[in-house]
Amino acid sequence: MSKHVIIIGGGIIGLCSAYYLQKEGHQVTVVDKSNMDSGASYVNAGYITPSHFIALAAPGMLSKGVKWMFNPKSPLYIKPRFDVDFMKWAWAFKKSAIASKVEQSIKPLLDINLLSRDLYEDLKKSKDFNFHYEKKGLLMCYKTDKVGEEEWEVGKRGIEEGLKVEHLSAEAVSKLEPDVDLNIRGAVYYHSDAHMTPNNFMQDMLLFLKKNGVSILKNETVVDVTMTSQTISKVITDKQQLECDEVVLAAGSWSPQLNNKLGLKLLLQAGKGYSINVKSNTKITIPSILCEAKVAVTPMDGFTRFAGTMELAGVNHKINPVRVNAIADASTSYYNNINITSKEKLEAKCGLRPCSPDGLPYIGRSSKCKNLTIATGHAMMGWSLGPATGKLVSDFISEKKTTLDVTAFHPDREY
Ligand SMILES: Cc1cc2nc3c(=O)[nH]c(=O)nc-3n(C[C@H](O)[C@H](O)[C@H](O)COP(=O)(O)OP(=O)(O)OC[C@H]3O[C@@H](n4cnc5c(N)ncnc54)[C@H](O)[C@@H]3O)c2cc1C
Repeated sequence: MSKHVIIIGGGIIGLCSAYYLQKEGHQVTVVDKSNMDSGASYVNAGYITPSHFIALAAPGMLSKGVKWMFNPKSPLYIKPRFDVDFMKWAWAFKKSAIASKVEQSIKPLLDINLLSRDLYEDLKKSKDFNFHYEKKGLLMCYKTDKVGEEEWEVGKRGIEEGLKVEHLSAEAVSKLEPDVDLNIRGAVYYHSDAHMTPNNFMQDMLLFLKKNGVSILKNETVVDVTMTSQTISKVITDKQQLECDEVVLAAGSWSPQLNNKLGLKLLLQAGKGYSINVKSNTKITIPSILCEAKVAVTPMDGFTRFAGTMELAGVNHKINPVRVNAIADASTSYYNNINITSKEKLEAKCGLRPCSPDGLPYIGRSSKCKNLTIATGHAMMGWSLGPATGKLVSDFISEKKTTLDVTAFHPDREY
């Protein structure tokens, strides 16, 4: 049965949900408060990440965050503040950052990443799209033996889970990247991963959706809903009231702002990250994570992107030049032949990762509302998980068996 579905938020999650919903024959409206050309879904590193099967909430992360709190250049920054929602989130993060929980989340994270990569490949094959997508893997480059050993432990776990992972010496890496002068000890190489140019896909997808009857309402903010007997009948924006059969909450880091209106208690914090686009030819062909600095490097369509920092400091898009410089300095310390200009640093952009406390996304129906599907909280993996999340959202609304087991992603889960 065709339903009128309103999607709140037109980032990667909202657009991918719209794609699979319209394929199922639903009438879809996407409402976004922005001009739909900036934010996390445009500035990210574009990785498709089966390699990222260890959740962000891993043992040691919180103590690292506390240690780094006073270092303005650190890759993880937690702004100390007495905010009730933040305190609840931090407590839930602490409870999640234990080995047994990390272990439990490996399979769900890997399964959803692999599904999403396959779906991106299907989209790439379809004649409807022309976006940049390459599957060249991901190099986890390290400078110290300690970090190399830690990365290889994770790599070996990846092999147990069926991924192809190799431990490479610096010489072996230079054979893969002969025109790049890397200052490293070695790298753990995940063959499973792919990369894209986010802006390019978002534009392609927006064009496709418009051509195929999806209504896109830009610069319009959802401010409320009309709900009776746990069912939403209208979505109220700052411009109009929209009747609906179903609603999808894909508002990224802003999702908790609608908690009260929707009767939800979603714990979610914005994790700000920055990216710098380098236009000169860096000759980098394989994406890398510079492990000690936690910087992501991606050869995109016409430029190379250097991205990093996880700043838990509320919902804002203020650019801190100290952190931008830290990303640039760290990058040039790993690549001897790369120059990042002052202009490129000045043009750095930021985006907000919607972070759940346990590092798993929220995908599914809440018991609080019968016709609401939640699709947010993807943190560092939102780009990678866009298509899989969109497919699952469509499964829920079309009342089909979900393409994979979504128990771990339940939005009502307790911490
Ligand atoms: C520097 C950086 C690097 C990253 N690298 C990667 C990577 O390599 N791979 C990966 O998988 N992920 C990566 N990520 C994470 C990824 O970008 C995010 O997880 C993802 O973009 C989140 O998508 P989203 O659609 O949930 O949210 P968003 O992209 O934030 O979209 C939410 C949308 O909702 C709209 N909205 C909010 N409230 C309302 C409202 N009330 N009414 C109407 N509209 C509303 C907003 O305007 C926004 O457009 C990175 C992120 C950053 C910042």
